[in-house]
Amino acid sequence: MSYAIEHVRLDFPLLAREVNGRPVAYFDSAASAQKPLAVIDRELDFYRHSYAAVHRGIHTLSADATQKIEKVREKVAEFINAASAEEIVFVKGATEGINLVANSFGRHLVKPGDSIMITEMEHHANIVPWQILAKEHRLDLRVCPLQTDGTLDLAFLAESIDSSCKLLAITHVSNVLGTVNPLIDIIARAKAQSPYLRVLVDGAQAVMHNQVDVQALNCDFYVFSGHKLYGPSGIGILYGRLPLLEQMPPWEAGGGMIKQVSLSTGPTFADPPWRFEAGSPNTAAIIGLGAAIEYVSALSLEAIKHYEQSLMHYAVEALLQVPTIKIYGPVARVGVIAFNLGDHHAYDVGSFLDQYGIAIRTGHQCAMPVMAVYQVASMCRASLALYNTQEEVARLVAGLQRIHQLLG
Ligand code: PLP
Repeated sequence: MSYAIEHVRLDFPLLAREVNGRPVAYFDSAASAQKPLAVIDRELDFYRHSYAAVHRGIHTLSADATQKIEKVREKVAEFINAASAEEIVFVKGATEGINLVANSFGRHLVKPGDSIMITEMEHHANIVPWQILAKEHRLDLRVCPLQTDGTLDLAFLAESIDSSCKLLAITHVSNVLGTVNPLIDIIARAKAQSPYLRVLVDGAQAVMHNQVDVQALNCDFYVFSGHKLYGPSGIGILYGRLPLLEQMPPWEAGGGMIKQVSLSTGPTFADPPWRFEAGSPNTAAIIGLGAAIEYVSALSLEAIKHYEQSLMHYAVEALLQVPTIKIYGPVARVGVIAFNLGDHHAYDVGSFLDQYGIAIRTGHQCAMPVMAVYQVASMCRASLALYNTQEEVARLVAGLQRIHQLLG
């Protein structure tokens, strides 16, 4: 499958800039990806020519803007193969999507004494909301262990999900290790063990690397963020199965999420998904997300996957040549490579590379429990996106070699 990387790179204006006198090599897309002109232009165009409040006015501009964002809802539904656009809730990001589920489904459809299962591989966004909920709502929070080969202990999962378990919250792809969890099997087995179990999948690190099909996964909720999918910041998606969303009360309240408000009888709520979208939405970001989905779909996720896989293979082989490097995670990884260089603190490595225009993520990666499994305080993480090249990887490797030569 041909993939014209030199043309793809031209779509991303930021990649043309220099950092510290060198062309930037951006390996931090798992934190936030750069934006193609298609996204930037679509958002600007909306502000220039079509901006108005949505769901509020009868006038032409408002009706057009409303139609535009509702079209994006349909596009998102198609992108992840949801059964209908009503299953797509606009949120700020993956974090807000998870908090919405914790505070609506978690507080109202899970009873004190029930249990919920998370994993040791999760980003803090898929841990802390459940810790708070478990404490306040008296739930038993169970944790599926992460093994040092970068995979989950699936035997534990099989043994520990019982009929008290009402929710499994699990990541699709690890933001630190790049592990792709075998979700079809995990979800099928978990649901067979607990008939009332619902599954929330954190897809923040998955949607940009692989075609996602929420119906094939048989999950109940799926969340992701626009800014990691080459789209704008401040917009994300919560997918929820419609019959489930219909049972869930609103989390936030205000304009846009009601049917009626009466000072004597109180409010009645709109149907999903609008019930979960209180207040004025981030319209321009929604429009930009639509452009991002069109952009990756036009390149084709299949072509992106092939390109990224071969780059990943090259990168791992090349990084393994650096003396004292330790790479964490499974052999088959997607999107990210986590490593440490000898005893050097990840911040020192990251600062050194920055002098050469090379941007990596350093620190606990918002996954302190993963750091604990590997008994380190921090890691370096290089993410590979659809615009990274072998030449950039070679610069990363040369930078690490230089650190080793200079600092030992
Ligand atoms: N989940 C995973 C796996 C992530 O990698 C991230 C962000 O790094 C999040 C959730 C949170 O995403 P956001 O900050 O966009 O809400």
